[in-house]
Amino acid sequence: MKQDILTKGTVEGVRIYALDTTNLVREACEKHKTSHLASAALGRAMTGALLLAATMKDAERIGLRFKGDGPIEEVVADAEGDSVRGYVGNPDVFLSLNEGKLDVGGAIGRGTITVTRYLKNANPFTGYCDLVDGEIANDITNYLYTSEQTPSSVALGVLVNKDGVVEVAGGYFIQALPGCDEAVLEALDHNVRMTPYVSQLLELGYTPEKIIQILGKGLDVNILESYPVKFKCRCSRDAVLKTLLTLSDADIESLGEDDETEVHCHFCNERYIFTKEEILNLRK
Ligand SMILES: [Zn+2]
Repeated sequence: MKQDILTKGTVEGVRIYALDTTNLVREACEKHKTSHLASAALGRAMTGALLLAATMKDAERIGLRFKGDGPIEEVVADAEGDSVRGYVGNPDVFLSLNEGKLDVGGAIGRGTITVTRYLKNANPFTGYCDLVDGEIANDITNYLYTSEQTPSSVALGVLVNKDGVVEVAGGYFIQALPGCDEAVLEALDHNVRMTPYVSQLLELGYTPEKIIQILGKGLDVNILESYPVKFKCRCSRDAVLKTLLTLSDADIESLGEDDETEVHCHFCNERYIFTKEEILNLRK
């Protein structure tokens, strides 16, 4: 099986990152039992989160939230280094195809994108702006430009087959570094317009490195590094117990009236069951 890989490159003062997230998006969609449409939305958001996390320092984290008035309710993804997790508000969402494509924009509707950067030696930074079209890639591009003054170009693609299985998923990210040549940006812009959808490239078996080579055609492409990426949730039984420990004795007593207490992790759909005894033992 092909591995999920993120490759970082530079092209004459421009950062280009590309990644294949096929397996991890498939895994997330299986965990959340998402519809075709919800799979596309979740896959795009998780892929976008990994691309943005790749521009951050070690142990820094990014959270993306797309919240609109559409039937999917919200799409959330958060990534740290090589790991990502995410969920959608309504995993069963269904809409007719829009010009033959899964209508992610219609599922999300009008609303806002919220981006939170959890930085290493600083308070978390949250910014938001209106969604452009709810298709996720354009919304991230617009957010980076208007809220963080970073001109970038983001492409995301998820291909779901008729059985609802994720066939391919991935994306790329192009960002001008300070002082880069205008002519290089124009050449890249031309290349982007001449390049097929990222899902088509992945379907043809192109690796992230090959995608960077295609985007940087005619320019000096420098591949920096590649690393595997994965779906990973930070929840655990211990972490849930720690959260329960913050409850007051009165709240614990009240939970302890039930034979079992179930705690559900939104991000990975895991359910943790605690017995009455386990709960009552949490009393101070
Ligand atoms: Zn979890």
